[in-house]
Amino acid sequence: MATCRVGTPLRGGGPSRVYFLPVAGIALLALAQCAPAPRSGEREPLISVGLVTGAQSSSFRLTKPATLLLDGEAAGSLSEGTYRIRLEKPLHRGTASREEISSGRNASTASGLRLVLLDERGRKAGEAQQAISLRNGDLVFLGRSGRRRQDRVYPGRVDFLLWRGQMAIVNRLPLEEYVRGVLLAEISPKSPQEALRAQAIAVRSMALSQRRQAHAGAPFELCADWHCQVYAGVPVDKSPVDEAVKTTRGMVLYSGGTVIQALYSANCGGHTESAARAWRGSRLDYLRGVLDGPQDVDPDLTKERILEQWVLGKPDVFCKDSPRGHFRWTRVIKASVLKTRLERMLGRTVGDVLELAVLRRGVSGRAFRIQITTTEGNFQVDGELRIRHLLAQPALPSSCFAVEVREGGAGREFVLHGAGFGHGVGLCQDGAAAMAKRGYRYWEILAHYYPGTRLLQIY
Ligand SMILES: [Zn+2]
Ligand SMILES: [Zn+2]
Repeated sequence: MATCRVGTPLRGGGPSRVYFLPVAGIALLALAQCAPAPRSGEREPLISVGLVTGAQSSSFRLTKPATLLLDGEAAGSLSEGTYRIRLEKPLHRGTASREEISSGRNASTASGLRLVLLDERGRKAGEAQQAISLRNGDLVFLGRSGRRRQDRVYPGRVDFLLWRGQMAIVNRLPLEEYVRGVLLAEISPKSPQEALRAQAIAVRSMALSQRRQAHAGAPFELCADWHCQVYAGVPVDKSPVDEAVKTTRGMVLYSGGTVIQALYSANCGGHTESAARAWRGSRLDYLRGVLDGPQDVDPDLTKERILEQWVLGKPDVFCKDSPRGHFRWTRVIKASVLKTRLERMLGRTVGDVLELAVLRRGVSGRAFRIQITTTEGNFQVDGELRIRHLLAQPALPSSCFAVEVREGGAGREFVLHGAGFGHGVGLCQDGAAAMAKRGYRYWEILAHYYPGTRLLQIY
C-alpha cells in the first residue's frame, strides 16, 4: 500500500497511468488495492458551471457560428455577431391555458414567461419557454462586469435557462477547458511550471469532488465564484497555463477511494490549517495542516507565546517570500472602532473595549475564537471569517495574528501582527511556487500539502 502513496514520490518521471511507481505490474496492483480501479476508457467529463443566476437579460457576442437549440430542439445556426437574450413577461395575464395551470405541468408556461433571442438590430431570432442553448459559439459576454473580459470566451455549450422565474446562464464544457479557465483566474500564470501543474491537479480534483454536492437542486454543478472556484471563461490565445493542464491531463488526487477536496489558499503564513478546525466536522486526514517547510520540528502554534514569536519572526518556510507581501502583515484597530463594529455585529451596546484576546487557535495559528473584554463584560466571537470581518475593513488577510496593546494619542489601540492570506487549508500557492523554484516536482508539492493521498490519471 505504501508504494502507491503520493508521500513516497520517486524522482525522475513516472509511468503513464499511476505515478510514483517504478514498475507497471506494481502499478496495476496499486490500482486494485488503493483506489477504485479507474474504468478503462473513461472519458473526460463535462462540467456545468452556473455563471449567472437571477438575470433578466444578457448580451453577448458569438466569436464563431453557433448551433442554436430552443427548448432542446435543434433550430439551425447563428452567425457571428452580437445578440441579446431577455426574459419576457406576457403582455396579458392568463396567457397559459387553464389546463396548464391546473395541471402544474409546466411552471414557466403557466407563468407565461419566455426567453427571447434578439439579433443586433433587435429582431427576434428565436424564443423558448425553458432554455435557449448555443453550442460552440465561443461567447464573449458584454456588459460592465469585471469578470466579462474580452480576451476570454465561454466554450462548449451555453444555456440560458428559465429558473425560479428568472434567467440563469450555465456553461457546460469539458473538464480540461474548465481547469484552464480556473487556473488563469486563481493563480498567477507567471508561477513556475511545476506549481501550475500541482495547482491544475488541485483544481481538477476540487471540481470532481464538489460537483455532486456544491449546488444540489440547481441546474448546474458548480458556481463560477469563490464558493466553488473562480471561473471567468477560458483564454482565447495560448496561455502559460496550457502546458500545465496538458501535461497533467486527467490526473486527480485520491484518498480512501474518493477524489479529494483539494483546497488551496494564497499564503498559509508558514503552516497550513486543518480542515477539521476551519470547518467543524470535516475530519479529512489529508487536510490536517502541515508545517510549510522542510524542517522536522513542527511548532505548536496554538500556544500564544510560540505563536507570537512565529508571527514576529521570519521562519524559514516555503512561502516566506510572498511576492504579494502576504507572509507577514500588520493592521491596527482602535478600541473605539472595535466597539462600534462589535455593537453592529451583535446588535446591542457593549461598553468601552478594554482587551482583545484569542481564546482558540488552529494548528496554523489562525484564531477561531476571540474574546473582547469591555466595561460591560466579555464578548466572544467565533469563526475565522467573522473574526476577519470584525477586526478590519476590508477583512483581515487571515485570522492568524498576535495582539499587541498600545496606548495611542487617541486612546487605546490594538496592533495585529499577522501571517498569511486566506483560510490556509490545503495547498499554499506562494509555498507551491517557492517549492517549484527550489526544484521540487509537482507530485512532491502535492505530497507535501495533501499528505497520504494518491495521484491517479483517470482518463
Ligand atoms: Zn459554488
Ligand atoms: Zn505557506
